[in-house]
Amino acid sequence: MAQVQLRDVVKRYGPMVAVNHLSLTINDGEFVALVGPSGCGKTTTLNLVAGLIEHSDGDIVIGGRVVNDLDPKDRDIAMVFQNYALYPNKTVFDNLAFPLRMRKMPGAEIEAKVRSAANVLSIEPLLQRRPRELSGGQQQRVALGRALVRNPRVFLMDEPLSNLDAKLRVQMRSELKRFHLEQRATVIYVTHDQMEAVTMADRMAVMNGGDLQQYDTPARVFDAPANTFVAGFVGSPAMNLLPARVSMQGTDVVLLGADGWNCTLSAGNGRKALASGSDEIVLGARHGAIRLLQEETPNTVHGRVYTVEPTGDITYVHVHVGAALLVVSVPPEVQVAPDDPVWLRFEQDKLHLFDGRTQQALS
Ligand code: ATP
Repeated sequence: MAQVQLRDVVKRYGPMVAVNHLSLTINDGEFVALVGPSGCGKTTTLNLVAGLIEHSDGDIVIGGRVVNDLDPKDRDIAMVFQNYALYPNKTVFDNLAFPLRMRKMPGAEIEAKVRSAANVLSIEPLLQRRPRELSGGQQQRVALGRALVRNPRVFLMDEPLSNLDAKLRVQMRSELKRFHLEQRATVIYVTHDQMEAVTMADRMAVMNGGDLQQYDTPARVFDAPANTFVAGFVGSPAMNLLPARVSMQGTDVVLLGADGWNCTLSAGNGRKALASGSDEIVLGARHGAIRLLQEETPNTVHGRVYTVEPTGDITYVHVHVGAALLVVSVPPEVQVAPDDPVWLRFEQDKLHLFDGRTQQALS
């Protein structure tokens, strides 16, 4: 396996910048997920590492060697796509053997490698079947097996689970994780499904508009989003983000919400807000960081229930505060109905503060 480095990589399509000065190190044996909204440059980045498209600037380094001018076949990488790309008329065995036959490997060696990969992926009983005789999950395993037999230095995966139904996706997620653990593989994995990134990846790279927004462990990206984009993108339901002005009332630091609410900050949050020097702040609060109360209490924000969404073990309540719509979670036994007046308390130790101008997190 090998480390992969992108050093200040740029990809332009005419005037359009698809990948903008991207620097990223994927360590040997690390599983990194590239996430971000549609069109943010995830697939382009993967294809640049694979060599399927040429970059405009910067260096791509695999295993310590600059591979800018190397053909895809010489980069020693294997790709797994969402459509599997299996040969329909070949058996599973022949699908797995194909890349090895292309390399003119001796038959006995091919047999051993195919059996070993089939064993790892528990597809031995399927070796004589054809792709159409397999379920989606089995086909996906064969596609993975075909990548595995080549013993590549790096696995590149582009939404490999997106054609599977929800239940199978969850199962394959855990199998892929196990696969990574056992193979100690370097994996770069493109997905639009945050759950896949959060559950499988050692680190996730969040991209937007060709720019890298944050590169960190899923826990850090969730708990300490670098800016309002990451805060709003990672986590479901999305974090509540409320623009506000900072004001002093006596010794208290008070946020005056653009939507008519106000909230006195704790001493710690107040210091943070003042230290930024910015009088415009964005207050970030996940649904679990807001307490919903059914009577007025000091330092709460008044709102009105818009909709109630029970999901089983948690109920999401959407609350209008002025023009803003916030989502709050409550235990399922809480009785609340549309149009009820409610009061919201921000849990100070769970709040995020962002600079209103730069949108960057305040520290
Ligand atoms: P998705 O999740 O929708 O697959 P993505 O994050 O993988 O999106 P990319 O496919 O990497 O996004 O595309 C990044 C940007 O580059 C997009 O704006 C896209 O329209 C543009 N783009 C991609 N390929 C080309 C091309 N061949 N010519 C021109 N523009 C392109």
